[in-house]
Formats: sequence, structure tokens, C-alpha cells
Amino acid sequence: VSREHRPEGRSTVVVGGVSIGPDTTTLVAGPCAVETPEQTLEAALMAKKAGATLLRGGAFKPRTSPYAFQGLGELGLRILADVRAETGLPVVTEVVAPHDVDMVAEYADMLQIGTRNMQNFGLLQAAGRAGKPVLLKRGMNSTIEEWLMAAEYIAQRGCLDIVLCERGIRTFETSTRNTLDVSAVPVVQRLSHLPVMIDPSHSGGRRDLVLPLSRAAIAVGADGVLVDVHPHPEEALCDGPQALVTEDLQELSQALDALGTLM
Ligand code: PEP
Repeated sequence: VSREHRPEGRSTVVVGGVSIGPDTTTLVAGPCAVETPEQTLEAALMAKKAGATLLRGGAFKPRTSPYAFQGLGELGLRILADVRAETGLPVVTEVVAPHDVDMVAEYADMLQIGTRNMQNFGLLQAAGRAGKPVLLKRGMNSTIEEWLMAAEYIAQRGCLDIVLCERGIRTFETSTRNTLDVSAVPVVQRLSHLPVMIDPSHSGGRRDLVLPLSRAAIAVGADGVLVDVHPHPEEALCDGPQALVTEDLQELSQALDALGTLM
């Protein structure tokens, strides 16, 4: 994934017909967790209206507490596939265990590796063999070099369709959930040809930060943003405080449009 392999230019990764790369600004949006068919469809329609071209949504949720909602598993994947059929939005969804990779790949257009699994090497290798593009989140405690080495584990198994996603790192600061490392975008683009996105929802953990952090993401050259959306955030089973509602999405899509080429 390094510049040794491709010294000039930047790669584009195509996910279900949607390009992520230097010529576009891609909006990936959807619920943090798939909860019900209605909630997922409503969130997807909100996302689509705002210009999202890919639907995100977790069926397997790696939660800090084992008592928190862990996701619907395969039922959640079926809901995502139904919503894709209804909206036409290709699906990005997380896989958390190597033995689930083939099953998740049957439903998903892109496999997501979350921050907590960035150095789960068996999972990275399984994802690299699955024949689907991979969205690799940065580990919240990982350096950029460790992140790029994690991408090498995927590439080594035959998959070069990798999109990197900066989602905030742990610092001493407590007013945000994690600290969005915007400098990671230009640093990574010097070291690697892969597309880089930013997740302003999971980094800040707060709805009011999603718009300014998205602006920052595009200003530093990110190829897109990945955001949480929920029709009723106060009832969300996961990360409600960061989920965007219709008015926020409208503002976000106007801002992205003004800063890049929302496709
Ligand atoms: C997510 O995108 O649903 C998620 C859990 O993100 P992260 O791994 O960055 O916390």
C-alpha cells in the first residue's frame, strides 16, 4: 500500500459501482447500529437525500461493555441487504471475527474493520481474502505506521481495494471522545496511495462536532466522510448523541458540496 508500490498518484477504490478516491468527495452515512428494518430504511433514505452514495450500518457492534447492545448479527445483515435493494445504496458494514468474514462478505459491498480490531491480524488476513473492498479504521491507540502495516496484512492476502479511515485517537483530552487527527490525512497520502476518509461521528462522539470536523476533513484532503444518522437519536441503541438528524444532514451536504465534488 506504500509509495514504493505506486510512487505517483492516488488510487480509487470502487464499492458497488461507487468510487472513493481523489476525484470525488464520498459521503457514507447510515445508522451506527442496525436496530430494526424501519429504522435502517429511514436512516438510509435520510442519508440518500443528503447525497450519500454508500450506506453504513453495524450488524456486529464491538461495544466496550458486554452488557451493551451487540448488534443483530446476521439478521442485521439481511436488513441491510433489503435496504440496499430498496434504496440502491451499496452497504459498508463491520466484521469483528475471522469466522464471520465470509458470511458478512455475502451481504456487504465493503467490509469494515473497526478501530478495536485494527491489529487483529487474523481478521485482517481473512478480510483480505474475502474478495470485497475493505474500509480500515485507524486503531485509536495506533501510530500511522502501525495503521499502514495493518493495511499491508490485508494487501498481502490479495486485496488492494483498501480505504483508510481516520476516526480519532486517544489523547489526554476529555471534551471529545477521541481526538481527530486531521494531520493523518496528508501524512498518509505522502506515504500511501490509498484513499483516506474521516469519521467525524466516532471521533468527536458529539453531533455538534460532525459538521466542523467534516469541513476540516475535506479541507485537509480527505476523500470523504463517514457519518452516523438516526431518525430518532434519543431512542438509539448505540451512540445516539453523535447521530445526525435531517437538518444536520442538509447542512452537511451543503458544506461538502461547497468544498468538494459530492458524488
Ligand atoms: C463504527 O463505525 O460503527 C464504529 C464502531 O467505529 P469505530 O471502530 O471507529 O469505533
